[in-house]
Amino acid sequence: VLQARDLHKRFGETEVLKGIGLDVKAGERIAILGSSGSGKSTLLRCLNLLETPSRGEILLDGKAVGRPGRDGAVRYGETELNRLRMRVGMVFQQFHLFPHRSVLENVMEGPRFVLDRPRAEAQALAERHLARVGLADKAGAYPANLSGGQQQRVAIARALAMDPEILLFDEPTSSLDPELVGEVLEVIRGLSAEGRTMLLVTHELGFAYHFATRVLFLHDGHILEDGPPDIVLKAPREERTQQFLARFT
Ligand code: ATP
Ligand code: MG
Repeated sequence: VLQARDLHKRFGETEVLKGIGLDVKAGERIAILGSSGSGKSTLLRCLNLLETPSRGEILLDGKAVGRPGRDGAVRYGETELNRLRMRVGMVFQQFHLFPHRSVLENVMEGPRFVLDRPRAEAQALAERHLARVGLADKAGAYPANLSGGQQQRVAIARALAMDPEILLFDEPTSSLDPELVGEVLEVIRGLSAEGRTMLLVTHELGFAYHFATRVLFLHDGHILEDGPPDIVLKAPREERTQQFLARFT
């Protein structure tokens, strides 16, 4: 469903992504590992075009998004970006909830104003998704009055309310206190049972092993390893990957 071809991203002088090729198939659950600065977040942000690639292209259902300019960089239209982001949702490390809106309003926002659903319908949808992440009783609360784990579950409900085909998670548990990590991973585990296509950047290797159908190891802007968890996490080919994994044991 989603592909990246020869993806490059540079910020000024630094090239962060150095030619990424990736083919995400429907139903795949891909865990993305790599040390800090290897380009994991940049890759996810390029995949839903929160970040404009310097070179290379993104394809949805085999069709290139945007039009290439003369310099090799692709130009994207507003409508095209919105369509892509409706189909590719994202959950961030720092929840990014609207602080002055209730939990329910945060989740209703997308269905109401992006999908243009009537208020009652958006509310019913939001309530359903809140129940799904175990927060039906927090609908009227404000983000500041929730724990980090609860806030992240609201962020997941908000992403789900758009019914994206693909869900991207960028270290969804990294900013949580250890005792709150489990409840968020439990919600993500529940989603994988539904067969939704997901990409997850994480340092939770144990979770990645059980969650993922496929594991990528990113190093210095390249995909160094791409294979089933049993291979990449247990018997990686590259020395860099072995060194990286050794830090967790
Ligand atoms: P982490 O594990 O710390 O989240 P990461 O693998 O997600 O790391 P990225 O956030 O993708 O790494 O960043 C890769 C490199 O790109 C870093 O050196 C970072 O400083 C640089 N970078 C990222 N975003 C920008 C930006 N908007 N402007 C300039 N440099 C950036
Ligand atoms: Mg990151």
